[in-house]
Amino acid sequence: MNSIEKEIRTLESKIRHHQQLYYKARKPEISDKEFDLLFKKLQDLEKANPEFASVNSPTKVVGSDSDNEFHKYQHKVPVLSLENTYNFAELKDWIEKTGIENEYSVEWKIDGASIVLYYEKGELVNGVSRGSGGIGDDVTENIRTIRNIPLKLPEPVSIYARGEVYMTFTDFAEFNEEFGGKYANPRNLAAGSIKHKNSSQTAKRPLRIFTYDAYFPEPNKKIKYHSQILETMSDLGLPVSNEYKIISGKKIEKVISEFKKKKDKVDYPVDGLVIKLNDLALRDALGATSHSPRWARAFKFDALMKETRIVNIDYAVGRTGKITPRAKVEPVLLAGTTVTYATLHNQDFIDEMGIGIGAKVNVAKRGEIIPAVEEVIEPGNQGIFKLPEKCPACGTVLLKVDESVDFFCPNKKCPDREKNSLIFFCQRKQMDIEGLGEKQIENFYNAGFIRSIPDIYKLKSKRDELIQTAGLGEKSVDIILSGIEKSKEKDFKFVLPSIGLSEVGHKVTEILIENGFDDIDKIIEAASAANARENLEEIHGMGPRTAESIVRQFQDRETLKLIDELKKAGLKFQAVRRQKSSLTLFGGQSWCVTGSFENFQPRDKAMDLIVYYGGRKVTSISTKTTHLLAGENAGSKLEKARELGVLIVNEKEFLEILKKAKIKL
Ligand SMILES: [Zn+2]
Repeated sequence: MNSIEKEIRTLESKIRHHQQLYYKARKPEISDKEFDLLFKKLQDLEKANPEFASVNSPTKVVGSDSDNEFHKYQHKVPVLSLENTYNFAELKDWIEKTGIENEYSVEWKIDGASIVLYYEKGELVNGVSRGSGGIGDDVTENIRTIRNIPLKLPEPVSIYARGEVYMTFTDFAEFNEEFGGKYANPRNLAAGSIKHKNSSQTAKRPLRIFTYDAYFPEPNKKIKYHSQILETMSDLGLPVSNEYKIISGKKIEKVISEFKKKKDKVDYPVDGLVIKLNDLALRDALGATSHSPRWARAFKFDALMKETRIVNIDYAVGRTGKITPRAKVEPVLLAGTTVTYATLHNQDFIDEMGIGIGAKVNVAKRGEIIPAVEEVIEPGNQGIFKLPEKCPACGTVLLKVDESVDFFCPNKKCPDREKNSLIFFCQRKQMDIEGLGEKQIENFYNAGFIRSIPDIYKLKSKRDELIQTAGLGEKSVDIILSGIEKSKEKDFKFVLPSIGLSEVGHKVTEILIENGFDDIDKIIEAASAANARENLEEIHGMGPRTAESIVRQFQDRETLKLIDELKKAGLKFQAVRRQKSSLTLFGGQSWCVTGSFENFQPRDKAMDLIVYYGGRKVTSISTKTTHLLAGENAGSKLEKARELGVLIVNEKEFLEILKKAKIKL
């Protein structure tokens, strides 16, 4: 081995060691800066000497920007699915047949994306989706970016570990907030993320894994029980949930009810329990059918799932042009509401599930408002449904954009897109215009009163017409008009994300304002400057895609025209410059906030105080962050703060600080 190669190997193992301390033990031995330096050094060496860079270098976790194609991968051991039951009596029958005296493991059934991790001699070689069970997609590049998946095991063992990639509810909420709530639930986002064509995008998503079973290609005689498999995986640094229980079959009822009680308290999506025989020899004796083992059952929580039939499939066109297919189903009572529609997400989902008109399906609600089709019980007789080639609202040929699995209507004048843009603009989280809800906007749109956002501000000159033709009372019209007037007082930080530019949501707007772009003219100017993209990319928290989007849109004539018209209508295109106190209690400090608070709702109230008293507000944790204000249910930010040694302050401590400085809330 030459000296460079040696140095690369040494750095790799050093970095791995410190990463272990960070992520697992949470006891870093070196400062963040020292760590960054090691990392950078390895990156540089690898760049200069690519022949010595190892496939599993810790630098690989940042992901690549190149499109990765997913090759098909033949699983080394068939990846069986589990037989489901929703019925406790059925489960009990199975246990009695299998042996009530036997030991069983009871584990959460995590609701994410199923993955097999193939380690050869301690190196992660492949991460493969379950696929058909026989053949899956090789999603290794994406899997490498998941931070709690070790790329190298501490021992050179070969192991094929099964796991579920998931996202915690807290991380999902935080992530989804940045994207204006466009993702339906953590399960779909996790599943979509591991199939993302661009692993640097996957790397940005707060994914995690739990591994729950393993196969050892070199027979290991010491392992006789499933519980030992779990322990071995855990010893090897593979994340194993510590919530599993090994119980006698006799205790099943009691244990299930204990799990059910805890169900709503776990911070990750679970849709049931997995019950497995603990004794591996007994498992072997029972064997498996072609699709599921006889020694395990999934006991699904059924409360929110009901059987129904798809009577029709139509599709909604969103404000961005995204087409969302949805199934009209025979009405069924689910969690207190009558369900008549269920989302089908996109064509990939329809294909994967084999959904067609007439199919008998299970629909479920998973905490989100829109129910979804969960599984097909019996396919319909009309084959798998195919989305039309043309937009149902305007007839334009639909397109697939970039690496998205969705189809889009590219016509900006598409009536459904226009309507939904208006609805979005008036929403509570955006401009919050009283009286202009979905129904009313639709009425006004269809009657020709409003086509675009500036039209909203022209309504006041049409008061009489509205009263006469829109079928509204004088009072209702006045409520709407005064709501519209009031929206002119809304700060720039609401105006900008409301006009519906791609990638420019609340979070990006905040980042722009914090970095001095507190005026629309400054943003427009920045977008047209030479090196505009590079300059914007340098802003912390701004990715290349966002930068590109800003540059493109703020040079677009139509966007500029829209901004101009809204300016003339009297909307605020300049942020209120925050007043500052002469008391600089938080001077020189950079604060980030996460979680929820009792005394600060919304939590920005706490941040406003910090800024008022001289502090800096940041939206993500970095080495430059000095404090994290952490409320209840803090998510990935708290973890990152711990990793980086950022001072963590809870609500009580924060109130103490304020009290000491005699600052009143
Ligand atoms: Zn259209």
